[in-house]
Amino acid sequence: MATPIGNLGDFSPRAVAVLAAVDRIFCEDTRHSRRLLDHYGITTALEPLHAHNERRMAGQLVARMRDAGEACALVSDAGTPLISDPGYVLVSSALDAGVAVRTVPGPSALVAALSISGLPTDRFVFEGFLPSAGGARARRLAALTDEPRTLVFYEAPHRLLAMLTDLREAFGANRVAVVTRELSKRFETVYRGTLETLLGTLGADPHATRGEIVVLVAGAPQVATDAQEAEIDRLLGVLLAETDQRTAVRVVTRLTGARRNAVYRRALALAADD
Ligand code: SAM
Repeated sequence: MATPIGNLGDFSPRAVAVLAAVDRIFCEDTRHSRRLLDHYGITTALEPLHAHNERRMAGQLVARMRDAGEACALVSDAGTPLISDPGYVLVSSALDAGVAVRTVPGPSALVAALSISGLPTDRFVFEGFLPSAGGARARRLAALTDEPRTLVFYEAPHRLLAMLTDLREAFGANRVAVVTRELSKRFETVYRGTLETLLGTLGADPHATRGEIVVLVAGAPQVATDAQEAEIDRLLGVLLAETDQRTAVRVVTRLTGARRNAVYRRALALAADD
C-alpha cells in the first residue's frame, strides 16, 4: 500500500483503515513507519522487510499468510512499495502461493513528477536509479539514446549534477529535461530546460541539489526536419574533414540533440557520396 511522499495530507482514509485492520505490517524501517502509524493512533505490529532480508524472509512470511490466514500489509518508507523499493519478491511469492494480493493505491514520486513535468505522458519509460558504476551506467544510457518515450529517473541529490552531465553526454546538450524536487513538500520546485541550461541553473543554485529528486528527459526526436538534417550535414561536413567518424558523430549528436543513429547514418551517407 502506498504512503505519502512528503505530505501527510496525501494519506488516504482507506490506507489508514486498512493499516489499522490488518494483523501485521511489513515495512522497510520500523522506527520510520511507527512514527506514521502513531500519527493515526494505529497500533498494528510492524515487521521489517527490506532489501537485505526480503529474499530470505519472503517464503516464510507467505507461508504464514497462506497457512495461518494472517492478513498483512506492505509499506515502504515513502510512496508505492516495489517502485525502486522492496516488495517484488514478497508479492510474486504470495501470488505463486495462491495468496490474494490487493492494492491500496496512492502517491508515487514517478507519477507525481511526470504529471507536472510538461513532457509527453502518453508513453513513458521508468528507469529508476541509474547504475552508479561508470561502465554499467554508460551502457544503460547508450541503450536509451534513441528511446522516443519520455524517460523518468530517480536520483540522489548529491549525484544530480554528475547525472545531468552524463545525460548531456549521452543525449546531447539540447535535449529537453525536467528536474522536480521535494514533490508535495514545502519547497516543491520544478526546473525545465535543455540539459545544458539545467546544468547551468542547478549548478549555480545550492538549494537545487538538496532534497528528493526526480529527473525526466524528453524522448529522442523521431523525425529530423529538413532544416535539422541540413544542419547535421553541415556540421558533419566540417568535422569529418578534421577528425574520425566516431568523434564527428558523437560531437554532432551532442551539439544537435539528434538521435545518434540518425547522425551516424548521415555520416555514412556523406562518406559514400565522397
Ligand atoms: N517507492 C517510492 C515511490 O513510489 O516514489 C520511491 C522510493 S525510492 C527509494 C526514493 C526516490 O524517490 C528518491 O531518491 C527520489 O528520487 C524519489 N522521491 C521520493 N519522494 C520524492 C519527493 N517528495 N520528491 C521528489 N522525488 C521523490
